[in-house]
Amino acid sequence: MTTINKIERILKKVEHDCLQSGLRLTKKRRNVLQILLQEQEPLSAYDIVERYKITMAESLSAMSVYRMLDFLLAAGLVHKLETTNQYLACSHIICEHQHQIPQFLICDQCHKVEEVGLCKQLLDELKASIENTGFSLLSQQLELHGLCAHCKKQE
Ligand SMILES: [Zn+2]
Ligand SMILES: [Zn+2]
Ligand SMILES: [Zn+2]
Repeated sequence: MTTINKIERILKKVEHDCLQSGLRLTKKRRNVLQILLQEQEPLSAYDIVERYKITMAESLSAMSVYRMLDFLLAAGLVHKLETTNQYLACSHIICEHQHQIPQFLICDQCHKVEEVGLCKQLLDELKASIENTGFSLLSQQLELHGLCAHCKKQE
């Protein structure tokens, strides 16, 4: 969904921010982020190995892709969908506003994922009523499956 110009801008900002905060954005880490930015769909680590081979003409092991993803996850540049074990670039990298815990709307037909920020009060209430049952919530990341507006229209 991201245009080439926008991807360039995002990568420039990431390079700048990493330099400022002393994070080591290696060329390979940057390339993995670029691949995720270019995709419309979330990718598994193995998908990334494939894309990397095609677009960067270099073979990486899945192990090293996982390590690069760990770096990008820790830096908040990439998110992981726990329900599908896939990764996607954060859609708020160049935003100035504060990033909340991301929630994801996943289209089961075209596999497009929308990153949304649900209101904090709603999440706190959800957390409270879940914990009332005695269950401890380890993550507040919601992954909701359904049909996107586009696919719903095609129905
Ligand atoms: Zn995000
Ligand atoms: Zn934003
Ligand atoms: Zn869809």
